[in-house]
Amino acid sequence: MNLYDVIVIGGGVSGLTASIYTSRSFLKTLNIAGFPAGGQLTWTTEVENFPGFPEGVMGPELIERMRKQSEKFGTVFLDENVTEISGSYESGFNVKTEGSQVFTAKSIIIAVGSSPKKLNAPGEEKLSARGVSYCAVCDGAFFKQKEVVVVGGGDSAMEEANYLSKYASHVHVLVRGTKDQMKASAIMIDKTEKNPKVKFYYNSQIKEIVGEKTVEKVIITNSQTNSDSELLVDGVFIAIGWKPNTDFLGNLVEKDALGYIKINNQTYTSVPGIFVCGDSADARYRQAITAAGTGAMSAIDCERFLSH
Ligand code: NDP
Repeated sequence: MNLYDVIVIGGGVSGLTASIYTSRSFLKTLNIAGFPAGGQLTWTTEVENFPGFPEGVMGPELIERMRKQSEKFGTVFLDENVTEISGSYESGFNVKTEGSQVFTAKSIIIAVGSSPKKLNAPGEEKLSARGVSYCAVCDGAFFKQKEVVVVGGGDSAMEEANYLSKYASHVHVLVRGTKDQMKASAIMIDKTEKNPKVKFYYNSQIKEIVGEKTVEKVIITNSQTNSDSELLVDGVFIAIGWKPNTDFLGNLVEKDALGYIKINNQTYTSVPGIFVCGDSADARYRQAITAAGTGAMSAIDCERFLSH
């Protein structure tokens, strides 16, 4: 039977926590986990700040353990992407997947997370995973003793640059504004500036990423001098922020200008019976533990909503 009490959409930390709570409360739970499933932690190596793991834990292992814990309580998992949600609490919500399966539920918990933003520079898409990366932790080790570029002036870019300096011979950081305009915290800028392998380029943006099979160089435009220059690099790491994965929802629930789902009351969305947790409603904290926390909150809100 494709009828559930709750369908959780998303198999990352927030969705898995929500599923643990709903299935443990005897709500018949389907988790449509996305493909590939597991969310941001599956691209991470060691997680050092998740409470309960004094020695740290590998991101994929944490996800696997949470999923097993959820299965233990009866959650059914499906590793597919959702394409459409229709209906209402009164009539039942219909959830359609990429594989054209349709499932019905009395309530929905959205836990779809967010994704890295793209530069949309020429060459970026063609050379993606061939030198262009959005995750230093995942791909940094491929650039031992090579030169790389990091794009961005926020804390993510600073973190990526420092991480990459463990492997790369030189790390060039491109900031599109001036030093004063950088979004990164002073302490992170200071640490990165003191890193002998890192060099900053201000007022600088990538015009093109060039390479036949893999990245060979980037063409950079300086907005102050209006001139172009080249850097011979093997890797381009883009760290310019995140976008919530909420496009597939259309206008079903209210969102803010950036696409983050608006929260009315803790984890309630604008639609009765649809709840939200994790990074698709959180541009501020974006931590595994906060995602887990809101996952638990959404499940408790959902359970109380259904019992009333
Ligand atoms: P931010 O929004 O803070 O920074 C994005 C950066 O990318 C800005 O410098 C921005 O430039 C630049 N940028 C955006 N679009 C482009 C583009 N098309 N071309 C070139 N540059 C571009 O995002 P982050 O992901 O860095 O950080 C998000 C939040 O997460 C912040 O609150 C941050 O503090 C937090 N965080 C904390 C960490 C920590 O404490 N360890 C680690 C990572 C993140 P511009 O300023 O010109 O718009």
